[in-house]
Amino acid sequence: MQPSPRAYVPFVSVDTMMQLVHRIGLRQMMRDLAACIEEDFLRWTSFDKTPRVAAHSDVGVIELMPVADDALYAFKYVNGHPKNMKDGLQTVAAFGLLADMNTGYPVLLTEMTLLTAIRTAAMSALAARHLARPESRTMAIVGNGAQAEFQATAFQAVCGIDTVRLYDIDPAATAKAMRNLAHSGLTVHACHTAEEAVEGTDIVTTCTADKQFATILTDNLVGSGQHLNAVGGDCPGKTELHQDILRRSEIFVEYAPQTRIEGEIQQLDPDHPVTELWQVVSGLAPGRSNARQITLFDSVGFAIEDFSALRYIKEQVQSAGIEEKLDLLADPEDPRDLFGMLQRAAPGLAA
Ligand code: NAD
Repeated sequence: MQPSPRAYVPFVSVDTMMQLVHRIGLRQMMRDLAACIEEDFLRWTSFDKTPRVAAHSDVGVIELMPVADDALYAFKYVNGHPKNMKDGLQTVAAFGLLADMNTGYPVLLTEMTLLTAIRTAAMSALAARHLARPESRTMAIVGNGAQAEFQATAFQAVCGIDTVRLYDIDPAATAKAMRNLAHSGLTVHACHTAEEAVEGTDIVTTCTADKQFATILTDNLVGSGQHLNAVGGDCPGKTELHQDILRRSEIFVEYAPQTRIEGEIQQLDPDHPVTELWQVVSGLAPGRSNARQITLFDSVGFAIEDFSALRYIKEQVQSAGIEEKLDLLADPEDPRDLFGMLQRAAPGLAA
């Protein structure tokens, strides 16, 4: 049975998302998403915010990330299972929904595995545009899994990075990223150690996956003036940076109540000073104060970034006319006749 025309929910499958990215161009999409997130960070106080709701197991986490403003409600369902990769599954998989605050009806349901990689990279690059030294051109990426090439592309598109140095404990991951970035216009180097990758670069992204307090970077690897973009430490008990690095850095976060639970700063005292990035974007707090300072974006991923991505995708699929129509809502013509709608759908009866 066809959904009634007023009740269908626009749906974006993985295939449709890939079509959309190719229509817009990944670099353009990174710039667009960075601009949407920036716009929403500028109206930070108009959102109803809460730390995400997490269900932990020994091997991973499943999270719901809700947020709303006066007009729209959004949530993302996302997991983090570092052991998945060995079983041929994604470490991070996601889908998300946008709804109308006025009716409560969903107005978009979309895949968000690709979209999370894109919005995370756009967010990282936006933070770096506000915090890294403006002349930054080189970056290291430690952890060359699913997120890595998205990170490289966003930093190229948004910050003007032209050289990327890659390192992963698994050389096959680095070889994959080298192949995928071969025609990107970036100069890309494969490195044999984290130290070789990081030394002398302007920006360092860490995006490894391990459900433990790991030490991907030690203090001696980080030089003055570097900007650190720590993406992989995003869960209680899952961090990437040695504490000494945190103590030397000026730390910027998305939403402090969530990052204190999930970010690198879970290793520090609960009152260690941090700045929420929206305050820097809004001109309410300083970002980098000098060229020698080490700045750290302690990224965990916050619901407003998904809200920005969802509203952007809704506009784009609508204008491209490529959304699918999902029969998700029971919506009888007489709203009180839900039962009658079911009865009329009985086999052999005209609906
Ligand atoms: P992935 O499993 O595809 O890749 C992780 C890579 O890290 C693998 O190639 C692995 O070999 C490598 N690695 C593990 N330990 C390492 C080490 N000590 N040194 C160097 N490399 C190492 O995972 P992914 O999808 O790329 O995600 C990466 C991380 O980013 C995950 O921890 C995920 O939870 C996190 N993440 C954060 C955000 C955010 O908003 N902050 C968003 C998405 C994903």
